[in-house]
Amino acid sequence: MPYKRILLKLSGEALMGNRQYGIDPERLAEYAKEIKSAVDKGIEVAIVIGGGNIFRGIAGASKGMDRVQGDHMGMLATVINGLALQSACEDHGIQTRLQSAIKINEVAEPFIRRKAMRHLEKGRVVIFGGGTGNPYFTTDSAAVLRAIEIEADVILKGTRVDGIYTSDPEKDEGARKFDFITFDDVLRKGLKVMDTTAFTLSQENELPIIVFDMNTPGNLLKVVSGEKIGTKVNL
Ligand code: UDP
Repeated sequence: MPYKRILLKLSGEALMGNRQYGIDPERLAEYAKEIKSAVDKGIEVAIVIGGGNIFRGIAGASKGMDRVQGDHMGMLATVINGLALQSACEDHGIQTRLQSAIKINEVAEPFIRRKAMRHLEKGRVVIFGGGTGNPYFTTDSAAVLRAIEIEADVILKGTRVDGIYTSDPEKDEGARKFDFITFDDVLRKGLKVMDTTAFTLSQENELPIIVFDMNTPGNLLKVVSGEKIGTKVNL
C-alpha cells in the first residue's frame, strides 16, 4: 500500500445524498462501507468532516448575523456530522473516536494530537470535528492542519466530481481532467481545489492532495491502493 496513514476530507454537503439539507442515512452507510474497506487493508484512517449541510457561518453573515457567532454554529454542525459518521462506522464494525476542536466533553474527546495518533496506531478511525476550532477558517484548512499534525501521507478529498478539470465539468462539455497537477499550476491556472489558506498550507508542507469521486463504491480502496483515479496535486 503506498499510503499508510490517510486524512480523508468529506464535505458536509456530501452527507446530504439527494436531499436538500441534513443527513442521508444511506449515504452515511455507503461511506462507512468505503472506510471499512480501507481499514481492513491496514490503512490508518483519519477523517475531517465539514458542516455545510447544516450551517455555514458565511451564509449567516450574509443575512446580517455576526460572523463569529455563525462560525461557531458551523463548527458545531461539523460535530453533529461527526457523531452521525461515527455511528454509521460503528454499525459497520469500525472502531472510531470522535475528537473535537471545541471542548464538548460529554459528546466527544478533545483534540489531543498524541492521543489521536495512538488511536490510529491501534487501528481506530479518528474523526475530527469542530474544524480548527477557530472562526474564519474552513474544514478544508482543518483537514490540512490535522493531516500535517498527525503526519498523514496524503489528503484525500472525496467529492462528487472525479478530479480536477480545466473548467467546471458540470457546466462545460469541453472540460478536460488532469491526472496529475502541481500546486503551482493549480494556482497559475486559477483552479479551485480548496480555499487558498488550506491549499497553501498543504503546498508549504509538501503534503499531496488527491481529489476523487467518493460516491462511486470501491473508489476509496482504489485510491489508497495507489490506483490512478482522481487527480493528484503534488509539488
Ligand atoms: N468553521 C469554522 N472554523 C473551522 C471550520 C469550520 O468557523 O475551522 C465553520 C464555518 O462557518 C464553516 C462551517 O463551519 O462555514 C462548516 O464548515 P465548511 O464550510 O468547511 O464545511 P463543508 O463545506 O466542508 O461542508
